[in-house]
Amino acid sequence: MTARNRPKDFEVVFPLRDFLAHPNGHKSVPEPAREVPVLAECDVAVFGGGPAGVCAAAAAGRAGKQVVLVERYGFLGGMATAADVNVLHSLYGTDRKTRVIGGLAEEIIRRLQQRGAARNTNPAGESGGWIICSETAKFVLDDLVIGSGVRLLLHTWLADVIRDGRRIAAALVEGKSGRGAILANVYVDGTGDADLIRRAGVQTQLGDGQGRCQPPSLCFRVGGCKAGAVGLRGVQAELFKTPMDYNGQPYPTFLWGNPGIWDSREHMLAGTRVLGVNLADSTDLTRAEVEARYQLRWVLERLKAMPGWEDCYLVDVAAQIGGRESHRILADHQLTREEVLGGESFPDAVAQGTYPIDIHNPEGPGILFEHLDGTWNRIGGDGSSQQGRWDGQPAGAPPRGTLCYQVPYRSLVPRDLDNVLAAGRCAGANHDAAGAIRVMVNCMQLGQAAGAAAAITPPGASVRQVDAGQVQERLIEDDVPLRLAR
Ligand SMILES: Cc1cc2nc3c(=O)[nH]c(=O)nc-3n(C[C@H](O)[C@H](O)[C@H](O)COP(=O)(O)OP(=O)(O)OC[C@H]3O[C@@H](n4cnc5c(N)ncnc54)[C@H](O)[C@@H]3O)c2cc1C
Repeated sequence: MTARNRPKDFEVVFPLRDFLAHPNGHKSVPEPAREVPVLAECDVAVFGGGPAGVCAAAAAGRAGKQVVLVERYGFLGGMATAADVNVLHSLYGTDRKTRVIGGLAEEIIRRLQQRGAARNTNPAGESGGWIICSETAKFVLDDLVIGSGVRLLLHTWLADVIRDGRRIAAALVEGKSGRGAILANVYVDGTGDADLIRRAGVQTQLGDGQGRCQPPSLCFRVGGCKAGAVGLRGVQAELFKTPMDYNGQPYPTFLWGNPGIWDSREHMLAGTRVLGVNLADSTDLTRAEVEARYQLRWVLERLKAMPGWEDCYLVDVAAQIGGRESHRILADHQLTREEVLGGESFPDAVAQGTYPIDIHNPEGPGILFEHLDGTWNRIGGDGSSQQGRWDGQPAGAPPRGTLCYQVPYRSLVPRDLDNVLAAGRCAGANHDAAGAIRVMVNCMQLGQAAGAAAAITPPGASVRQVDAGQVQERLIEDDVPLRLAR
């Protein structure tokens, strides 16, 4: 072998930004107009098959509507499968006795449970959260959607929309067979990043409004951890002592995870976190993936130095880096921090939750949780913890008795469009409130509500004219325990 064609040991060099493709200055080319085949004409078209999109499609399908669900990957589940996020939070209120979430979110958990693929974190009952098997979730969600009469289009990207005033006239998708159009009475955006709504040219809110987004994490699974090994808290404490050092400067170390459902020697680890990226930007998304895989190697190397983890090995890396936040719609009602923490009830409530506001610092280490009971706690970059009260009460004051918060139907309705609903992570909430409603059991409820509303929107009508009371009736019939103020 000559020196010329000898393989080199190439290394990733940081910072990465200069190595990535990026838009070429102000250059553009005209795209010629063309006729594209209509792939489907339906009542409801849902884009994105994550927790929200799956439930929107299933709810509309069960209401007897013609539904098409478009997903860019070869499987459903969004972050629960593609990003390996394997925890579904509690269905119960803060009292741990009152069931506040049911419907399709609960049905998905039961279907996973029947396959042994969901384990409650509370051994004494089922008021805790659920650790699930992300792989089993893929076929549980196939069954749910197909069994609800939904037409599924996998490996298909939403590429663009054709707009007619305040309505979307067609959605253009791109797949292995090329480009095609989908025509629907109502379009549901379940893409997590508001792709559908942004393609319609409508303004959205990115992150905290200044463009700072909660950082994404790439999750991975590690096997071969021995019985008696240092637990994850110990691993965290050890890792947090050393900032990552690959970026020409100290970079905050991050690790969160839990044991897998089938084998306690296997763990899902969210051991990476990339700052300063917007996952709805192709260049940032690319940088985040490569940089997170580098962080993963850094973590794995140190993990092997810990007692009981010496023989650990990488089982797999999630198909994509997990996104916590990017674009959200500007809705008829933008849910606020005060409404979430105060447990505000709404006359048009369509979902309920108890998960706290959980904000990963967009610019550095640390996570801030604000709980419904009046307390906050901050986890520092070194693993340290601080507590306090956000309600101005002294430290020892009794906890607030807020059972849950609600999300109104108006938070699913984009201000500038008439035949579109947004469900899940991209629903209308400000940065803080989104930090609470973004979790999957909440997104599933928002999806179910969007599907139920889309199903009763008369042809050509606005989703704004839908009677929220009728949506609530449908949800209650479908075992959603909405607490109505009337
Ligand atoms: C590291 C991490 C840890 C988390 N921990 C938890 C946790 O413990 N518990 C919890 O409940 N939540 C957790 N979350 C949050 C939660 O996973 C997400 O907020 C939730 O999955 C959002 O659901 P969604 O349906 O709105 O969007 P997503 O889950 O993002 O689903 C969007 C779907 O749309 C598809 N899509 C996107 N764009 C297009 C397009 N243009 N065309 C076609 N398809 C498209 C995607 O492939 C995906 O399937 C975590 C998130 C991260 C990143």
